[in-house]
Amino acid sequence: MSISRIYSEADKAGKEVAELTSGLVKFNSAHPEGRTDEIVPYIAEYLNKYGIVHEVHATDPKKPNIVAKIPGKSDHKVIWVGHIDVVPEGKSEAWKYPAYDGVIKGGVVHGRGSSDMKGSCAAAMVSARILSKMRVPNPVEFWFTSDEEIGGGAGAKWLAESGRFKGEVCIIGDGNGGGAENPSIDLGCKGGAQTRLIAKGKTAHGSTPFLGDNAITKLIKVIPEVYKIGNYKLDLPEDLNKPIRDSVKFYMGEAKTPELQKVVRRMFNYPSVTCNIINGGVKINVVPDYAEAEFDIRLTPGASVSDVRKEIDRLVKAANVLGVEVASGRETHASGRGKLGDKAGFYESPDTVFAKQFAKAIKKATGKRPGMKILAGGTDGISTSKIAGIPSLGYGTSISGVAHQPNEYITVENLVLGIKVYAGFPYFYKP
Ligand SMILES: [Zn+2]
Repeated sequence: MSISRIYSEADKAGKEVAELTSGLVKFNSAHPEGRTDEIVPYIAEYLNKYGIVHEVHATDPKKPNIVAKIPGKSDHKVIWVGHIDVVPEGKSEAWKYPAYDGVIKGGVVHGRGSSDMKGSCAAAMVSARILSKMRVPNPVEFWFTSDEEIGGGAGAKWLAESGRFKGEVCIIGDGNGGGAENPSIDLGCKGGAQTRLIAKGKTAHGSTPFLGDNAITKLIKVIPEVYKIGNYKLDLPEDLNKPIRDSVKFYMGEAKTPELQKVVRRMFNYPSVTCNIINGGVKINVVPDYAEAEFDIRLTPGASVSDVRKEIDRLVKAANVLGVEVASGRETHASGRGKLGDKAGFYESPDTVFAKQFAKAIKKATGKRPGMKILAGGTDGISTSKIAGIPSLGYGTSISGVAHQPNEYITVENLVLGIKVYAGFPYFYKP
């Protein structure tokens, strides 16, 4: 039987997938450069070795993407998407093993990107090799993208906008799939309603403040009012009730203090809000006539961004501080810096045939029925789902809490599971 053949091949591929992960980690594809022009030929070389058809697609020659194409008996194409760029390593002293050495030790691969998500990409490469020798019921494309960590500009976003992603369903290999213990599917991810508060006043000499109207003083009064949006209960679609309960349970494992547990319990039913930028003032002896604050506000997908915006406007108006208002999303920063915007999240209903078949594929590989969750951060799934219009579900091999941290690692056990899920799914997909 095909599935048992895939699983036995996966069980034999531990060493291969560990070495491939290590090989991928050794290419520094960290931002701000985020270059993928050396790692893509490495992937191409592997695909060539097994006679797998592949194409390179690039809008920025320093940040190419590559796709491996596996033929199938039907024309119901499945696509898999993972990214090969990584975030910077930070302080090198914080790493036990150098970030780009790809050290393999005791069933673990260490290094920047091992968990997020070069390990998953290695699992996809091995999946392509296994499937290329079989008569697969549905054609599969494995896409390895650049720029995910900065929004997909030369990667998934561009591939989606230029019509290069074509498929019936999409598996996102990013994120934490919970390994064998706690398997889970990502149904989607949060969106946001970034907000800028602008305070205007009147300038004066610092020695005669009564002649001016201090914009910073006014801004400080209103900032706590915007934070109150964190108490606004979101109106969410019913099919998210269970996934939200599952998500809370999943993230609760990472909340070590009662305060953090409280945050996790609320994180899907209420917006998260954090003021991350404050600007104002020109000189210590000048009363400022302008100040502004920017808030990162995140919402569970399915919630109404415009309702949240209206409530923020109401809170700011109710504060009744003359000269302080919410800038509209289109207004640019006083310094000409980028626009703020609404980034709606996305989610797939857990009740679709695709979600059920994907859950079956994961249950078969792990022996456990997977939970369903919503990710707090974004993935390439935003591009495949919202721009390319392809239903997208996530299952990653990542270890909980190590992405974007020093001493990032991945277990070979998770990678072998990843091969079973990625190579196995085309056999479960029946449109
Ligand atoms: Zn990632």
